[in-house]
Amino acid sequence: MSSALTTSTVTATDSAEPAIVFDRVGVSYGRGRKTTVALADFNLRVAAGETVALLGPSGSGKSTALKALAGFVRPTSGAVRLAGRDVTDLSPAKRGIGVVVQSYALFPHMRVHDNVAFGLKAHRVPRNEIGARVAEALEMVGMGAYGKRLPRELSGGQQQRVAIARALAIRPKVLLLDEPLAALDAQLRQSMLGELQQLRKALPDTAMLYVTHDQAEALALADRIAVMRDARLVDIDTARNLWQRPSTDFTAAFLGGANLLPCTVNHVAGTAALVTVGEHTLRAEAPAPGVARPDWVPNADARLCVRPHTVQVGPLTERDALRGTVVTSVWKGASTRLHLDVTGIPVQITADVQGHSELSPGDQVGVRFADPAGVLIPPGIGTDSAADQPEVRA
Ligand code: ADP
Ligand code: MG
Repeated sequence: MSSALTTSTVTATDSAEPAIVFDRVGVSYGRGRKTTVALADFNLRVAAGETVALLGPSGSGKSTALKALAGFVRPTSGAVRLAGRDVTDLSPAKRGIGVVVQSYALFPHMRVHDNVAFGLKAHRVPRNEIGARVAEALEMVGMGAYGKRLPRELSGGQQQRVAIARALAIRPKVLLLDEPLAALDAQLRQSMLGELQQLRKALPDTAMLYVTHDQAEALALADRIAVMRDARLVDIDTARNLWQRPSTDFTAAFLGGANLLPCTVNHVAGTAALVTVGEHTLRAEAPAPGVARPDWVPNADARLCVRPHTVQVGPLTERDALRGTVVTSVWKGASTRLHLDVTGIPVQITADVQGHSELSPGDQVGVRFADPAGVLIPPGIGTDSAADQPEVRA
């Protein structure tokens, strides 16, 4: 389909400029006392062929960012650009963006074929090409045989596939998806996630912005993840870097779940650190200083991010084990989540242990941290302060 994408709209700026640029975009809803700042000083660049996930809790401004790019809301400040072209004041239809939303938004009285053809007509695709383009788009999402159905004759997952086909039919260079799987049940969400990965491969030149509050979707699909909180972008990096070395408490907790143990940095050599947590000395990874991180200063306060699945829980008699008391135990199928009070550790510890744990509240256990126990997060970076830690511990 690459030849079809090479239309007359391609200009010399295309290769030099990112497919998507948010340039200090602000969006406020309402006026005066009732103003809601939904997006503040938002900067983001997405390259052609790249997938960026906008990940954040409900109300953090993700959909607003997407709508500002699609042209459904007008930024209060800043600009949005597509392949170098300022489109801030362009009507949505002229931006040539494919958009998929959670609620499918299919026309209920139109058959699948006509739903997909609708956007093509609006884009003035010649009438004799429409049939083939619709068929191609429906094929891409495995719905080739369903063109004559009405939306109500389809399952939720099938309807969402049609909505994706409709977005793809215009062969967009930019595809925006706003929580496209949120309305589907868990099992279907998993299989659709696999299909979206396939689709991603079939569209090597398309820039994708994928809005979700589900970290699993972001990890599965995104080249980079942009973490949002309270109308702001608080972190952006590859999924792996964000997960392995989060630079804020918020990212650590939101992406993967984390124990955030207050600690003091004793000693750092390269990326190896010794820290004091409560009454214990633990080994930790100290990420190399960078843009988002200061140098590590001895005696500085920091937080130790310990992933729940790395905490080992065994008999109290095990060597080097710290004494723990089970507070809660919740079986989750493949694993059991334990909350533990650990002697000499000032905060409760969350541990995920494999399988079904026979432990119950009050049981005494031996708790061991991995070596290194976790990764250090510097204080005062991003928007977090010690008094303002995220609640998210999922
Ligand atoms: P998200 O998609 O991350 O859940 P949104 O971008 O939808 O967040 O919303 C960000 C903030 O803007 C929220 O506080 C929300 O209540 C507010 N908001 C969104 N749309 C409107 C609107 N049309 N009018 C007023 N406030 C809005
Ligand atoms: Mg939203």
